[in-house]
Amino acid sequence: MYKLVISNPEKQMKNGFEKCRQMHPKVSLNGGIGNYKVKGNENIYNVQLFRDDRGQKLAECCCKANENGMFCYHIAAAFLAHTGIMRLKKAA
Ligand SMILES: [Zn+2]
Repeated sequence: MYKLVISNPEKQMKNGFEKCRQMHPKVSLNGGIGNYKVKGNENIYNVQLFRDDRGQKLAECCCKANENGMFCYHIAAAFLAHTGIMRLKKAA
């Protein structure tokens, strides 16, 4: 899997967010916060969102687009869910 650095999510995942609006992928937690399963058309993809030692935000997905170093809509979907969860946690 290819580790993508999230530096400007709005720009980097613009297409991904767009596709999410069309596809409505299902996101569920996969064990813990930061690990997600995203169900697209048929397949389920594992997406991980995490930080490295330097505090950089990274994203990984097990699909083909990610192997090519692209932000796929699975990552975009997981990112949206992740942002929502973190916001809830802060509010609690
Ligand atoms: Zn993907």
